[in-house]
Amino acid sequence: MISTMKLYRLQQADLSVADLTRQLEELSPPASEKQAFDEALKALGLTEQDLGKARKEMKVSELELQTLETKLKTVEKKLYGGSVVNPKELGSLQKDLEQFQKSKGKLEEKMLDLMLRIEGLEGEEAEARKLRDATEKEYGEKLTRHEGEKSAMEARIQEARLRREGLATEVDAESLGLYDELYAKKNGLVVVKIRKDACGGCFMSLAENVIKQAKERQLTYCSQCGRILVAVTE
Ligand SMILES: [Zn+2]
Repeated sequence: MISTMKLYRLQQADLSVADLTRQLEELSPPASEKQAFDEALKALGLTEQDLGKARKEMKVSELELQTLETKLKTVEKKLYGGSVVNPKELGSLQKDLEQFQKSKGKLEEKMLDLMLRIEGLEGEEAEARKLRDATEKEYGEKLTRHEGEKSAMEARIQEARLRREGLATEVDAESLGLYDELYAKKNGLVVVKIRKDACGGCFMSLAENVIKQAKERQLTYCSQCGRILVAVTE
């Protein structure tokens, strides 16, 4: 005689494994938080790049200014030092002096603009860094929680599998073979309860003798859907 109740419990364990597996598949990593973090990281990278360029430009300008100032000093020394007396030469030196002064003025204007730009970019960089830190923290927390949920679900699946294995050892090989075959065919619903004298799988009314047979714990099939019937008092 087959214990239909044992098969029923086996089926519940199988359904539990399937349900938990589906739940595990539905657990998705935090996508929107990852996107926010990636975007913040990218924005910070771009600001740092711009800031780096502006600082480099400033360095080049500082060197240019130094060169110009040296040139100016040299011309001034010649012009006012009394060593040059030739008017033509003095005129040419005067021209050089004016040109260098003009260049210096232009360069200083450019450097002032650059300084303001660097200051602005430094502010942007600080903000971008804050946003990067905040989004990184949020993503990290969500990811940790997700991984925790995943491991917990995996542990529950493992537990359910072990329970299933334990239950399977209580069923004879022939019944187990029959059950497995039906499980695949019937999409996991192999053993059904009799409810209000009807099959719990297809809801067809059952004949009295069929119900009696099931109550006696004999292997009983529903003549309509072929599932194994189990009579339980609920
Ligand atoms: Zn049925």
